[in-house]
Amino acid sequence: MNTKRTLVTCALPYANGPVHIGHLAGVYVPADIYVRYLRMRGRDVLYVCGSDEHGVPITIKAREQGCTPQDIVDRYHKVIKDSFTGLGINFDIYGRTSSAVHAEGASEFFRKMYDEGKFTTRESEQYYDPEAKTFLADRYIVGTCPKCGNPGAYGDQCEKCGSTLSPEELIDPRSKLSGAAPIKKKTTHWYLPLQDYEQWLREWILDGHKEWRTNVYGQVKSWLDGGLQPRAVTRDLDWGVPVPVEGAEGKVLYVWFDAPIGYISNTRELLPQS
Ligand SMILES: [Zn+2]
Repeated sequence: MNTKRTLVTCALPYANGPVHIGHLAGVYVPADIYVRYLRMRGRDVLYVCGSDEHGVPITIKAREQGCTPQDIVDRYHKVIKDSFTGLGINFDIYGRTSSAVHAEGASEFFRKMYDEGKFTTRESEQYYDPEAKTFLADRYIVGTCPKCGNPGAYGDQCEKCGSTLSPEELIDPRSKLSGAAPIKKKTTHWYLPLQDYEQWLREWILDGHKEWRTNVYGQVKSWLDGGLQPRAVTRDLDWGVPVPVEGAEGKVLYVWFDAPIGYISNTRELLPQS
């Protein structure tokens, strides 16, 4: 008897717009075919997915439309879920990262790593919109490109000339939210020191996964060769999973930390007893 069990997960769609045909062709239809194949062979398989519902772009969209982030994710979660159902893609669960089960699971991950001393903290100065009363991601600062004079360059990139920028380089920077000139404000965040895991990641990926697609393997190799840096796992934001430690009021888990845990919390929601 074959007792092997298979869990198939698909990239969680970001709930600030509908899924398009490229998503379906690239991810969801191939996975659905694989799941059907396993089931026809009598395998024990679960097919798990769900909406990725946190992060800054959803809060920006809500602000633009004069509604709440919850309204945005409620709308697109339904649109995306209905698209999958309509196309005959049958997940065992299509969950969401705004669920209570997910908040609990993501908090547990953070708390365990925090208790084991896996994070470092760092105080830094970040751009802040004094009118909208919120910290600004680089993407939400616009100004004139110092290289080509494009008046609509972003704080991370000029899309006209392709230059990579930092907000400091923009001429006449302003907040995309309110139009106000951003100010610098001190804030403290928790960081995952990725460089501590570099050796293990090198072996596991560069030696162990040569079968990855060439472009993916090449991208990861270039990051490893460039040296990994500590990466913040928290953000100053009012939309997301609250950072579950004292002194972290007004901060949430950064979406890149919280969303991948969605694969686990959606599975947990499907199988609460096991
Ligand atoms: Zn430019």
